[in-house]
Amino acid sequence: MQFYSLNKQSPKVSFKEATISGQAPDKGLYFPEIIPQVRKELIEKIENFSNEEIAFEVIRPYMDNTIAEADLFNIVKETINFPVPLVNVTENIFSLELFHGPTLAFKDIGARFMSRCLGYYVKGSNKKVTVLVATSGDTGGAVANGFYNINGVDVVILYPSGKVSSVQEKQLTTLGNNVHALEVHGTFDDCQQMVKQAFGDDELNKKLFLTSANSINVARWLPQQFYYFFAYKQWKEKNNPPVISVPSGNFGNICAGLLANASGLPVKHFIAACNANDVVTRYLQTEKYQPGKTIPTISNAMDVGDPGNFVRVLELFKQQFSILAAKVSSYSISDDETKATIKKVFADKNYLTDPHGAVAYLALENYLQTHPGEKGIFLETAHPVKFYNIIESVINDEIEIPVSVQSLLRKKKVSTPIEAKFGALKEILEQQ
Ligand SMILES: *Cc1c(COP(=O)(O)O)cnc(C)c1O
Repeated sequence: MQFYSLNKQSPKVSFKEATISGQAPDKGLYFPEIIPQVRKELIEKIENFSNEEIAFEVIRPYMDNTIAEADLFNIVKETINFPVPLVNVTENIFSLELFHGPTLAFKDIGARFMSRCLGYYVKGSNKKVTVLVATSGDTGGAVANGFYNINGVDVVILYPSGKVSSVQEKQLTTLGNNVHALEVHGTFDDCQQMVKQAFGDDELNKKLFLTSANSINVARWLPQQFYYFFAYKQWKEKNNPPVISVPSGNFGNICAGLLANASGLPVKHFIAACNANDVVTRYLQTEKYQPGKTIPTISNAMDVGDPGNFVRVLELFKQQFSILAAKVSSYSISDDETKATIKKVFADKNYLTDPHGAVAYLALENYLQTHPGEKGIFLETAHPVKFYNIIESVINDEIEIPVSVQSLLRKKKVSTPIEAKFGALKEILEQQ
């Protein structure tokens, strides 16, 4: 199978080329030319399949044998070597816990898969690849961890000094080896700007083979389908498929769910749960897409004013608004509502949500109120401990810090402080 650019001005490429280059030369996102259909048996007898088997079947059609089958199976197995439990929170609301991976957020799955594919593709070539990425928090940790010790790949992460949580900072500054953390005296937007300039700098790109690990990469996007299948495997009422609520920022996660659904996975309805960054919520009400400035919130991984993956959602629905609107609803949840939800779900159900999961929980609850008889799943995309400052102030109590996080917090941070100037980044990259 090949991938075409959504800007339609670049040649089609294989999964391998799309993974290595990230974006098409015309700056478009890559999209699969066919939506593969999963076997009927995989759905009807899904309990009989292991998670590895499911994931392997889902991803294989996209790969076009660019990775030998046995190696692909191993990559899949390593990607999902942690549980993804579906937990009953209320009578009709379930939590799909996507935070049991090494950096406690769902981005582990995409990052682990992509890093292993890239490692496979560069193996044997004498070319060293430098993965350059800017992070506002979760991406950096997942990418650092995913690419740690992958041969032939160097990782350079830019993060805004003092603007990521302590857990997030330690996750990207304590690994060392092929992972380099640059602590930028500036904002996330500065970091992103510097990375953008690096990709556009001819001199630098002659010397280094730079690539990005951001969420528009197909090797991060496509494996996110896996856990929608794992959720269905654990869903009891197979004759009443779930409504799935996805806390959305750049819309990669929900787009993977919609793709899984288009490939044959039963899902009754999707909810794009947004914070104050409500461009898609407004689009579904008005059919007008008006990107806004990014608004900072307590669910900060969803603070995106112009979601990059939304063009893929539109492509999946062939630009037909009415079909999209029949399958996807959207709610915009305020910070106050998010806090009240964390508090209420903890008090009533003894279940702790993180701010992102809480947004999805409330959006789902709102939807179910007007759709009696339906039941749903919200994606719990991060462990609450990643945001313990917020959570503790909301529930007025201390939360238990897992042993793995305690030892992480004790580790020594190693970062290189740099000015928010492209010249400073260039100098460091040239020494790589
Ligand atoms: C990145 C992230 C999101 C948003 O996912 P998108 O694929 O960008 O829509 C939601 N929750 C958490 C915890 C995240 O890290």
